[in-house]
Amino acid sequence: MEPAFPPSPALPPAILDPFGRAIRYLRISVTDRCDFRCVYCMSEAMEFLPKRDLLSLEELDRLCSAFVGLGVTKLRVTGGEPLVRRNILTFFNAMTRHLESGALRELTVTTNGSQLERFAADLAAAGVRRINVSLDTLDAGRFHAITRWGRFDQVMRGLDAAQAAGLKVKLNTVALKGVNEDELFTLTEFAAARGMDLTWIEVMPMGDIGNENRLDQFWPLTALRARLAQRYSLVDLPDSTGGPARYVRIEETGQRIGFITPLTHNFCESCNRVRVTCTGEIYTCLGQEGHSDLRAALRSSESDEALVTAIRAAIATKPRGHDFDYARGQEGGRISRHMSHTGG
Ligand code: SAM
Ligand code: SF4
Repeated sequence: MEPAFPPSPALPPAILDPFGRAIRYLRISVTDRCDFRCVYCMSEAMEFLPKRDLLSLEELDRLCSAFVGLGVTKLRVTGGEPLVRRNILTFFNAMTRHLESGALRELTVTTNGSQLERFAADLAAAGVRRINVSLDTLDAGRFHAITRWGRFDQVMRGLDAAQAAGLKVKLNTVALKGVNEDELFTLTEFAAARGMDLTWIEVMPMGDIGNENRLDQFWPLTALRARLAQRYSLVDLPDSTGGPARYVRIEETGQRIGFITPLTHNFCESCNRVRVTCTGEIYTCLGQEGHSDLRAALRSSESDEALVTAIRAAIATKPRGHDFDYARGQEGGRISRHMSHTGG
């Protein structure tokens, strides 16, 4: 039986950052490990953290519960690949109580889809309603080339399982020049036929990716959108998700298409998010190096007082925005860690 949630009460007070942005959205990375090695995200020879450095599932629960107590209403579980973390359902099931109390409005996950066949029904039972699945191509060979280790059929079965479990699926697709440009319309049509929204993401300069070059991968979404508009009528939609994407509706299909454009259009002014890594580092901006540690505060006492103080102190230093910029022909504003470290 899926949990029944109470009608939404008024929003609790949230912490404001130095620019007056209310922090309502936590992205928690539950592992840095992954069963794929996507070319824009990781190098093939990644070194992962020793398991002992990771927060335990109980610590993840305490940490996220503290954020919920501070006015966070949306929790996205990410990674690495969140569904490869051992016993991760225990954590999702623990979060259900915050959905049932009405304090948490949305519990969601970003996944590469590889484990969804196993987990979709249990995620729905825990109260997850919508998930993001990353999918950059519909061509099995190309899928293998992009993810290095991924198996396309497994992800397709995962999508089937998610929809069969009643989960609303949004596809996340990284726009890759010369790689999936020719799939703009086939991906759009695939998503429309399956009743899925689709969000395109500009490739960001995060972490060393070995011999690959992000400038070669970068396909600006201004160009993608213009090409889409040659075939379809696009209607701008007001922001409704609290996330970084800006949406249009395609009149002909009715589906929503999102654009995450950190390079061509900075969206930092409305940022309501903070991120915590699987070791308890809090990053208040995806595109800056600055971070602080919550694990020591978490482990210093059984009471949450020190933890809450550390969270407030971190949010008080949230920067105005990132400095990503390819305009000078180089990876401007590049940061040293990979996206899989902070969670996408
Ligand atoms: N493994 C899960 C997945 O792939 O959905 C969750 C973590 S992954 C880091 C989250 C998202 O970040 C994915 O949609 C992925 O495509 C995206 N991503 C990874 N590296 C990126 C980069 N350098 N620029 C833009 N998006 C990136
Ligand atoms: Fe893994 Fe996601 Fe990074 Fe791909 S994008 S390597 S699936 S963490």
